[in-house]
Amino acid sequence: SRKKERSVESLVSAILEGNITALSQAITLVESKNPQHLEKANAIIKQCLPHANTSVRIGITGVPGVGKSTFIEAFGMHLTAIGKKVAVLAVDPSSSITKGSILGDKTRMEDLVKNKNAFIRPSASGASLGGVARKTRESIILCEAAGYNSIIIETVGVGQSETAVHSMVDFFLLLKLAGAGDELQGIKRGIIEMADSIAINKSDGDNIKATKLAKVEFNRALHLYPEKASNWQPKVTTCSAINEEGIDEIWTIISDYVTLTKGNQFFNDNRREQNKFWLIQTIEEQLKNDFFNNTEVKVELAKQLQLIEDNKTTPFVAADYLLKLKV
Ligand code: GDP
Repeated sequence: SRKKERSVESLVSAILEGNITALSQAITLVESKNPQHLEKANAIIKQCLPHANTSVRIGITGVPGVGKSTFIEAFGMHLTAIGKKVAVLAVDPSSSITKGSILGDKTRMEDLVKNKNAFIRPSASGASLGGVARKTRESIILCEAAGYNSIIIETVGVGQSETAVHSMVDFFLLLKLAGAGDELQGIKRGIIEMADSIAINKSDGDNIKATKLAKVEFNRALHLYPEKASNWQPKVTTCSAINEEGIDEIWTIISDYVTLTKGNQFFNDNRREQNKFWLIQTIEEQLKNDFFNNTEVKVELAKQLQLIEDNKTTPFVAADYLLKLKV
């Protein structure tokens, strides 16, 4: 038996009241492949937009095993304890293959899952990072409209997903471990450059000394990077997610960052830049999809490929010809 579908108006008013079921349903529409669902999703987002933009968006990354889930549990619980409403989303394009490698195992977020001021949603699945990232971005708007003022976006330290998350958050937190070289941790230079803070996790037991040493080293390394456009000097801390130590300090760092960047306009400028980036990005993807899904283009593309193979044309002349088909 199919349940009666809720109208856009009914979903929007429920979302604005903070209704979690309605929020989940709207995100499901955002993630759907059905064009009718997407149309509905767009209408919902449009009505939610005036109520969005009110949060702090925090990106969290780090290699598998660094303690992201454990950290988010502790961090999220801390935030709700000080009166925040926390939404946790994820960007993990691989999740369709690995069946939700992040946030899939919610056992490490046991308390947060049950917390009435927290909303946790695993990554949308999909083959393309662009698609997954876009859905997450739209979900942020819905969460904000539902009253979540702290948005956490988790991503794994692989591929381009960090860059995508960086371009949708205000603050980017990198979790690291002590004692493992950068090459061991698979961290690219660019990710350190994106970080507004590095937290060296698992600073407990026998590991405390090593994490303190790592803190000094990262601090030194960070000073070699050029000053950020935000005017913010990235901070290095240690924490123990499992013992819930150093978590409040990280929130203090984020609050300081928000104060600074709201004061010097970077906060808003950055969001404006991000909107522009996503606009252009979406257009590019749409144009590309429209082009390659066009029946005539498909036929002609195959023909041109053959001509190239037969040395009767070049890739550049062929591209020119194909692009003109769609003008
Ligand atoms: P993720 O893959 O980055 O999400 O990492 P998890 O949160 O799943 O943690 C990986 C492992 O590290 C688990 O066994 C955790 O219990 C452990 N862990 C996470 N945080 C800490 C910590 O602060 N200290 C210690 N000793 N172990 C931790």
